[in-house]
Amino acid sequence: MPSAVPHRDAVLGLIRSLGRPVSADEIRDALRETGIGIATVYRIVNKAVEEGDLAKVELPGAPARFEPADLPHHHHFECDACKRVYDVPGCAKGVTGLAPEGFAVESHEIILRGTCRECSGVAV
Ligand SMILES: [Zn+2]
Ligand SMILES: [Zn+2]
Repeated sequence: MPSAVPHRDAVLGLIRSLGRPVSADEIRDALRETGIGIATVYRIVNKAVEEGDLAKVELPGAPARFEPADLPHHHHFECDACKRVYDVPGCAKGVTGLAPEGFAVESHEIILRGTCRECSGVAV
């Protein structure tokens, strides 16, 4: 399939340039002019997850999103208005210490929710 590689480059390039996790629908919409179909987007992102290039971001009640797998530890902000998900750099100090004594914490996720800057109408 001759178009597979340009599509893959376009999808991975888009995800990296946006700097926030995006769903397959968002990818398809952003690359609409290339004529990419949703099935191709899914095939590319799922393969990239398998190959370790992308990581899947799964928030409750939301479609899976994808981000580069090599990002440093960070968390996410979900906008209740536009449903976009943003990266929140860094971590909350001592968060693993919240677990009861004797519990071994292997990983954690922090999701902040609210309204993003664009939706709040705050001028910057
Ligand atoms: Zn928003
Ligand atoms: Zn953290």
